[in-house]
Amino acid sequence: MRISVVGQIEQTCDSCGHVSSNKLWRAIDLVERPQLRTWLAEGSWASAPCSKCGAGVERAEPLLVTRLDPIAPVLLAVSDEQQDFDKAVSKMQPVLLQVQHALGRARLSTPGPILRLTFDVLAFAATRDLAVDVKTLPSVDSIIEGSRHGSAELYKLFLIRIRKSADQRRFELALDQLLTVDGPAEFERILQTHPELLSQAARDEFSNRAANVAAGPIMTTS
Ligand SMILES: [Zn+2]
Repeated sequence: MRISVVGQIEQTCDSCGHVSSNKLWRAIDLVERPQLRTWLAEGSWASAPCSKCGAGVERAEPLLVTRLDPIAPVLLAVSDEQQDFDKAVSKMQPVLLQVQHALGRARLSTPGPILRLTFDVLAFAATRDLAVDVKTLPSVDSIIEGSRHGSAELYKLFLIRIRKSADQRRFELALDQLLTVDGPAEFERILQTHPELLSQAARDEFSNRAANVAAGPIMTTS
Protein backbone atom coordinates (compact mmCIF):
# COMPACT_ATOMS: atom_id res chain seq x y z
CA MET A 1 0.00 0.00 0.00
CA ARG A 2 1.29 3.46 -0.89
CA ILE A 3 2.13 5.65 2.08
CA SER A 4 2.41 9.04 0.39
CA VAL A 5 -0.93 10.63 -0.49
CA VAL A 6 -1.98 12.85 -3.40
CA GLY A 7 -5.28 14.73 -3.26
CA GLN A 8 -7.35 17.03 -5.42
CA ILE A 9 -7.35 20.34 -3.51
CA GLU A 10 -9.29 23.54 -4.19
CA GLN A 11 -7.34 26.76 -3.82
CA THR A 12 -8.65 30.33 -4.02
CA CYS A 13 -6.60 33.15 -5.56
CA ASP A 14 -6.44 36.16 -3.21
CA SER A 15 -6.03 38.55 -6.14
CA CYS A 16 -8.90 37.58 -8.45
CA GLY A 17 -10.93 35.08 -6.42
CA HIS A 18 -10.53 32.35 -9.02
CA VAL A 19 -10.92 28.88 -7.52
CA SER A 20 -8.74 26.21 -9.07
CA SER A 21 -8.57 22.53 -8.30
CA ASN A 22 -5.08 21.06 -8.25
CA LYS A 23 -3.49 17.72 -7.56
CA LEU A 24 -1.23 18.19 -4.56
CA TRP A 25 0.80 16.00 -2.24
CA ARG A 26 -1.05 15.80 1.07
CA ALA A 27 1.39 13.39 2.71
CA ILE A 28 4.93 12.43 1.80
CA ASP A 29 6.85 9.55 3.31
CA LEU A 30 10.53 10.06 2.63
CA VAL A 31 11.54 6.44 3.13
CA GLU A 32 9.03 5.44 0.48
CA ARG A 33 9.90 8.39 -1.79
CA PRO A 34 13.41 9.60 -0.96
CA GLN A 35 13.64 11.48 -4.27
CA LEU A 36 11.00 13.95 -3.00
CA ARG A 37 13.49 15.35 -0.48
CA THR A 38 15.07 17.46 -3.25
CA TRP A 39 11.65 18.62 -4.36
CA LEU A 40 10.76 19.58 -0.77
CA ALA A 41 14.05 21.45 -0.39
CA GLU A 42 13.45 23.38 -3.58
CA GLY A 43 10.38 24.93 -1.90
CA SER A 44 8.33 26.02 -4.92
CA TRP A 45 5.55 23.60 -3.90
CA ALA A 46 4.48 26.15 -1.25
CA SER A 47 2.84 28.35 -3.88
CA ALA A 48 1.62 28.16 -7.49
CA PRO A 49 0.60 30.79 -10.05
CA CYS A 50 -3.16 31.38 -10.44
CA SER A 51 -4.29 29.89 -13.74
CA LYS A 52 -6.47 32.94 -14.42
CA CYS A 53 -4.46 36.01 -13.38
CA GLY A 54 -1.00 34.58 -12.75
CA ALA A 55 -0.68 35.93 -9.19
CA GLY A 56 1.03 33.62 -6.72
CA VAL A 57 -1.39 31.50 -4.70
CA GLU A 58 0.03 30.30 -1.40
CA ARG A 59 -0.64 26.71 -0.52
CA ALA A 60 -3.21 26.61 2.32
CA GLU A 61 -3.37 22.82 2.66
CA PRO A 62 -1.11 21.41 5.41
CA LEU A 63 1.49 18.86 4.34
CA LEU A 64 2.21 15.75 6.39
CA VAL A 65 5.79 14.52 6.14
CA THR A 66 6.87 11.27 7.72
CA ARG A 67 10.41 9.93 8.17
CA LEU A 68 12.35 12.99 7.05
CA ASP A 69 14.71 12.00 9.86
CA PRO A 70 14.45 9.48 12.73
CA ILE A 71 14.84 12.36 15.17
CA ALA A 72 11.60 13.96 13.92
CA PRO A 73 9.59 11.21 12.24
CA VAL A 74 6.16 12.89 12.05
CA LEU A 75 5.89 16.48 10.81
CA LEU A 76 2.90 18.58 9.84
CA ALA A 77 3.85 21.65 7.84
CA VAL A 78 1.49 24.64 7.78
CA SER A 79 1.69 27.90 5.84
CA ASP A 80 2.02 30.14 8.88
CA GLU A 81 3.57 29.69 12.33
CA GLN A 82 0.54 31.49 13.86
CA GLN A 83 -1.97 29.09 12.30
CA ASP A 84 -4.19 27.11 14.69
CA PHE A 85 -2.27 23.83 14.77
CA ASP A 86 -4.94 21.71 16.48
CA LYS A 87 -7.35 22.74 13.74
CA ALA A 88 -4.82 21.75 11.08
CA VAL A 89 -4.31 18.37 12.78
CA SER A 90 -8.03 17.67 12.95
CA LYS A 91 -8.48 18.70 9.31
CA MET A 92 -5.72 16.26 8.38
CA GLN A 93 -7.15 13.42 10.49
CA PRO A 94 -8.28 11.30 7.49
CA VAL A 95 -4.83 11.63 5.89
CA LEU A 96 -3.11 10.82 9.19
CA LEU A 97 -5.17 7.67 9.56
CA GLN A 98 -4.49 6.63 5.97
CA VAL A 99 -0.73 7.13 6.43
CA GLN A 100 -0.66 5.27 9.76
CA HIS A 101 -2.47 2.38 8.18
CA ALA A 102 -0.19 2.33 5.13
CA LEU A 103 2.95 2.44 7.28
CA GLY A 104 1.93 -0.91 8.75
CA ARG A 105 4.64 -2.30 11.05
CA ALA A 106 6.84 0.71 10.26
CA ARG A 107 4.28 2.80 12.17
CA LEU A 108 5.62 1.24 15.36
CA SER A 109 9.05 2.78 14.76
CA THR A 110 7.56 6.11 13.61
CA PRO A 111 6.52 7.67 16.93
CA GLY A 112 4.71 10.95 17.56
CA PRO A 113 4.26 13.61 18.64
CA ILE A 114 3.25 15.36 15.43
CA LEU A 115 5.58 18.33 15.22
CA ARG A 116 4.57 21.59 13.60
CA LEU A 117 6.70 23.65 11.26
CA THR A 118 6.13 26.12 8.45
CA PHE A 119 6.52 25.34 4.74
CA ASP A 120 9.70 27.44 4.62
CA VAL A 121 11.19 25.61 7.58
CA LEU A 122 10.30 22.26 6.03
CA ALA A 123 12.04 23.24 2.78
CA PHE A 124 15.14 24.27 4.70
CA ALA A 125 15.05 21.23 7.02
CA ALA A 126 15.10 18.98 3.96
CA THR A 127 18.59 20.34 3.17
CA ARG A 128 19.98 19.83 6.68
CA ASP A 129 21.26 17.07 8.91
CA LEU A 130 18.57 17.41 11.58
CA ALA A 131 20.24 15.14 14.12
CA VAL A 132 23.40 17.28 14.04
CA ASP A 133 21.44 20.55 14.19
CA VAL A 134 19.29 19.39 17.13
CA LYS A 135 22.43 18.34 18.99
CA THR A 136 24.49 21.47 18.30
CA LEU A 137 21.69 24.09 18.03
CA PRO A 138 23.57 26.33 15.58
CA SER A 139 23.20 30.09 16.06
CA VAL A 140 20.56 31.90 14.03
CA ASP A 141 23.36 33.82 12.27
CA SER A 142 25.03 30.66 11.07
CA ILE A 143 21.67 29.23 9.95
CA ILE A 144 20.94 32.41 7.95
CA GLU A 145 24.09 31.86 5.89
CA GLY A 146 22.76 28.55 4.63
CA SER A 147 19.06 29.43 4.47
CA ARG A 148 17.54 30.67 1.25
CA HIS A 149 14.18 31.15 2.86
CA GLY A 150 14.75 33.79 5.51
CA SER A 151 13.31 31.50 8.12
CA ALA A 152 16.35 30.96 10.33
CA GLU A 153 14.62 31.90 13.57
CA LEU A 154 11.69 29.61 12.87
CA TYR A 155 14.10 26.83 11.99
CA LYS A 156 15.82 27.29 15.34
CA LEU A 157 12.41 27.21 17.07
CA PHE A 158 11.73 23.95 15.24
CA LEU A 159 15.03 22.47 16.49
CA ILE A 160 14.10 23.41 20.06
CA ARG A 161 10.67 21.86 19.55
CA ILE A 162 12.32 18.59 18.48
CA ARG A 163 14.50 18.69 21.59
CA LYS A 164 11.59 19.38 23.92
CA SER A 165 9.55 16.54 22.47
CA ALA A 166 12.37 13.97 22.80
CA ASP A 167 11.02 12.45 26.02
CA GLN A 168 7.52 12.10 24.61
CA ARG A 169 8.88 10.53 21.42
CA ARG A 170 11.01 8.09 23.41
CA PHE A 171 8.01 7.18 25.53
CA GLU A 172 5.77 6.65 22.49
CA LEU A 173 8.42 4.56 20.78
CA ALA A 174 8.72 2.37 23.89
CA LEU A 175 4.93 1.89 24.04
CA ASP A 176 4.91 0.99 20.37
CA GLN A 177 7.77 -1.46 20.83
CA LEU A 178 5.80 -3.23 23.56
CA LEU A 179 3.14 -3.98 20.97
CA THR A 180 5.68 -5.94 18.93
CA VAL A 181 7.28 -7.92 21.76
CA ASP A 182 7.95 -11.54 20.78
CA GLY A 183 9.24 -13.03 24.03
CA PRO A 184 10.01 -12.43 27.72
CA ALA A 185 13.67 -11.48 27.10
CA GLU A 186 12.63 -8.77 24.67
CA PHE A 187 9.94 -7.59 27.11
CA GLU A 188 12.50 -7.41 29.92
CA ARG A 189 14.95 -5.49 27.73
CA ILE A 190 12.35 -2.86 26.81
CA LEU A 191 11.30 -2.39 30.45
CA GLN A 192 14.91 -1.97 31.53
CA THR A 193 15.61 0.56 28.81
CA HIS A 194 12.38 2.44 29.54
CA PRO A 195 11.59 2.30 33.29
CA GLU A 196 8.97 5.02 32.69
CA LEU A 197 6.79 2.28 31.19
CA LEU A 198 6.02 1.08 34.70
CA SER A 199 4.07 4.24 35.56
CA GLN A 200 0.29 4.14 35.78
CA ALA A 201 0.02 6.68 32.96
CA ALA A 202 2.06 4.37 30.74
CA ARG A 203 -0.14 1.39 31.62
CA ASP A 204 -3.30 3.33 30.78
CA GLU A 205 -1.85 4.54 27.50
CA PHE A 206 -0.65 1.06 26.62
CA SER A 207 -4.09 -0.48 27.24
CA ASN A 208 -5.52 2.19 25.00
CA ARG A 209 -3.02 1.41 22.22
CA ALA A 210 -3.32 -2.33 22.50
CA ALA A 211 -7.09 -1.97 22.10
CA ASN A 212 -6.66 0.24 19.05
CA VAL A 213 -3.76 -1.46 17.34
CA ALA A 214 -5.91 -3.56 15.03
CA ALA A 215 -7.69 -0.46 13.79
CA GLY A 216 -4.39 1.42 13.40
CA PRO A 217 -2.58 2.94 16.38
CA ILE A 218 -2.91 6.60 17.16
CA MET A 219 -0.55 9.48 16.59
CA THR A 220 -0.53 12.15 19.29
CA THR A 221 0.26 15.83 19.21
CA SER A 222 2.64 17.43 21.70
ZN1 LIG B 1 -5.98 34.93 -9.76
